[in-house]
Amino acid sequence: MSTQAPARPGSATERFELVVGIEVHCQLRTASKMFCGCSTDYDGAPPNTHTCPVCLGLPGALPTINRRAVEHVLATGLAIGASVPSATRWDRKNYFYPDLPKGYQISQFELPLASAGHLTFDTSDGPLTVRIRRAHLEEDTAKLIHAAGPTGERISLIDFNRSGAPLMEIVTEPDVRSAEAARRYAEELQLLLRAIGVSDADMERGQMRVEANVSIRPRGTEALGTRVEVKNMNSFRAVERAVAHEAKRQAAALDAGEPLSQETRGWDDARRATYVMRSKEESHDYRYFPEPDLPPLRTDSAWLADIRGRLPELPAARRARYRDALGLSAYDAAVIVADPTMTAAFEAVRAAGPDLPAKELANLVTGEYARLARETADRGPEGLVGRATPAALADLLTRVVAGSLSRTNAREVLADHVRTGEPIGAIVEREGLSQISDAGALGAAVDAVLAANAAAVADHRAGKAQAIGFLVGQVMKATRGQANAAMVQSALRARLDAGGGPAGA
Ligand code: ADP
Ligand code: MG
Ligand code: ZN
Repeated sequence: MSTQAPARPGSATERFELVVGIEVHCQLRTASKMFCGCSTDYDGAPPNTHTCPVCLGLPGALPTINRRAVEHVLATGLAIGASVPSATRWDRKNYFYPDLPKGYQISQFELPLASAGHLTFDTSDGPLTVRIRRAHLEEDTAKLIHAAGPTGERISLIDFNRSGAPLMEIVTEPDVRSAEAARRYAEELQLLLRAIGVSDADMERGQMRVEANVSIRPRGTEALGTRVEVKNMNSFRAVERAVAHEAKRQAAALDAGEPLSQETRGWDDARRATYVMRSKEESHDYRYFPEPDLPPLRTDSAWLADIRGRLPELPAARRARYRDALGLSAYDAAVIVADPTMTAAFEAVRAAGPDLPAKELANLVTGEYARLARETADRGPEGLVGRATPAALADLLTRVVAGSLSRTNAREVLADHVRTGEPIGAIVEREGLSQISDAGALGAAVDAVLAANAAAVADHRAGKAQAIGFLVGQVMKATRGQANAAMVQSALRARLDAGGGPAGA
């Protein structure tokens, strides 16, 4: 009997299981660098203007630990339910590269500030929990710029502004099983890092760099396949595309009988393909040893309790609260929480109108308001779009819910208010948009329209379905759009069913 499984029919995704582990480096939001006092506000600054002997790696310069950076990693650890050691250590990771002139990076090897955490988020296949192996603190390298020299020769320039900036590395277990889940993990991690204020985590600006370790294995088997590390993805979409492409490429190679090799590949967004950066990756020996210039770092429980106490409500908890306590759909909760400006607007309007139905509020914030937010870069003092105020938005919704302002007109009033900041009542008054929900006033308008449109009434009796729509339109016209359309519709039906109107008289 052959131990080789016969080639089974079916697509590559049916036959192979994708396995992905993700490494994220993110720049921490601090005023100064990791081990010196140089400012981290170097974006757009001339090269080599944010440097000192420490971050230039000059011999004899001594590092000092940035407390805020440590707190950011501890906060991240607490937010992902990781365990934090009572004492941690700094290690030298030794390697040579021109962007690392001192020949080593100060990092954490055996005792990371956080280990064994997890992150849970929704995917189109349902909720997924990815185990996070570790999160540790290290320093960023300088930046190499490859350019053309004065006579066209290829030269490399070095900018030390980034050198020594605090960097957090977060490594997952190989728990991700689809390209979409890889993107969703990165999105959820960005949301979390921003929510707890530890990083701006902007992928386009290199503040969050995602590397995906990708392998495939025959479905039903346990052993991990040969992994390829994919780098240079600078958007969430690129993460998803790169993982999907790599899975396909590996399956095609295995199907063709070509062995895979452990290598580092880059993602070429224009070609939508990965390419070899470093082939035949040998396992590195970084000769880690304890950093002699820094003492071990103690993390006492009072300090941890203080950091925990300063954590805001986390995205997952907020989504659960919106669903369970406010009755929002899982979809609405996810959409609102995924966007901090929407979350802020939702909370602000809810505070101004606590009795408003949460579903109405969610519809406003994710619908018309979100559309205006995309069109208007302008933000008011409370973070709302344009000149909008929470009280006015609550007023607007209250009128819609009470039926005194139609949903159609509410859209115009909202746009007007965002532009001018004028109170809702004043706009409604000026534009004559107050909706007629008074049964008596509506009844009179309906009767007048029925009397004047005998032909349409006859059409309705003859079973023509469009006739009622025409009659509603006539009432709306007669009331200059101020009638409550739903009430008009039912008043018309009531009268027609009762045999009202000229044709039945
Ligand atoms: P290294 O130390 O070389 O970076 P690790 O073993 O620490 O390698 O793994 C780095 C990342 O790669 C982790 O996120 C891990 O989950 C993932 N990983 C390891 N092996 C595989 C594999 N065969 N397939 C997919 N991901 C893997
Ligand atoms: Mg690695
Ligand atoms: Zn410095």
